[in-house]
Amino acid sequence: MTTYLRIPALLIVLVWLAVACAPAQPAAPAKPAEPAKPAAPAPAPAAKPAEPAKPAQPAEAPKPAPAEKPAAQPAAKPAEKPAAAALPKPGEMPAGTYMKTIQDRGKLVAGVKTDVLLFGYLNPRSNKIEGFDVDMAKEIARAIFGDPEKIELKEVTSAARIPALKEGIVDVVVATMTITKQRMEEIEFADVYYESGQQVLVPKNSPIKSIQDTAGKRVCAAKGSTSERNISKFQAQATVVQTDKYPECLLAVQQGRADAISTDDVILMGLVEQDPNMQIVGDRFTQEPYGIGIAKGRAEFVQFVNAVLAQAKQSSRWKEIHQKWLGKYVQTPNPPTRTAREAAQ
Ligand code: GLU
Repeated sequence: MTTYLRIPALLIVLVWLAVACAPAQPAAPAKPAEPAKPAAPAPAPAAKPAEPAKPAQPAEAPKPAPAEKPAAQPAAKPAEKPAAAALPKPGEMPAGTYMKTIQDRGKLVAGVKTDVLLFGYLNPRSNKIEGFDVDMAKEIARAIFGDPEKIELKEVTSAARIPALKEGIVDVVVATMTITKQRMEEIEFADVYYESGQQVLVPKNSPIKSIQDTAGKRVCAAKGSTSERNISKFQAQATVVQTDKYPECLLAVQQGRADAISTDDVILMGLVEQDPNMQIVGDRFTQEPYGIGIAKGRAEFVQFVNAVLAQAKQSSRWKEIHQKWLGKYVQTPNPPTRTAREAAQ
């Protein structure tokens, strides 16, 4: 009897032990309690900022399917997207804006050079003004009208650029114009669209090899340009010869009224094209960041032009224009990135 009873008792103990040990092993699944911990952080932030946690989850959920690509782009280029997005549709300029004034007029009026080969030049064969600056101006017309040819090009000299804006003769000046602090007191500039720099141009047989060598020499530049001031700044003993336009400087050297010309490298490249007996010497000794000039008080229009530039720089357009006009002379770089404020010196 007693043994008969003890066996089941032993069995019960064994079964109890087995059961007691068994939960001890499932306690190992208590390690999955660690995976449960990752779950804990989720509720934790949710507990603190309940609202931000919620939008974070629904945002993550739709991402995998449709948001994958769009999400990657804004992450890579956050500054560029809003700029392009800021552009209203061509022909639909918002009421009350200066762009709408231009749209209603039916054409953009741009001040450009007509004597600077490669940037703004009246081609005698086609009787059309063409160049890098002209193409930039046409991008603005394209953005306003959807048609780059809805544009009137008005000639400006270096000295006439700021007055043309102040007097309301032109909407924009796109004319090899350097962004400077001093000029920014009088007009607005859109962001840099070309990075140029000043050099020296001389006849091939000249002893002048740099701006330093122009002490006691006559150096020509256009009135109202940064170039004319830079000559004195970098060689105080040079005599500055002033003209209205750069081809007049070339004539002055050809006729022996000047010994050298000093201005932006790209303007000098155009002059070499016109007179192969000339050559550019020395390094760039200034920075000349080109900006599109706009009259003061038109912040909205400046923003619009910046968005047009951002779009041209993002797409292949800027490089195409560079290649078209300067490809023969310089390798096409990446588009400039400086804002007007960053570039102003
Ligand atoms: N980029 C310089 C300036 O804005 C020199 C070239 C020019 O006279 O157009 O003055």
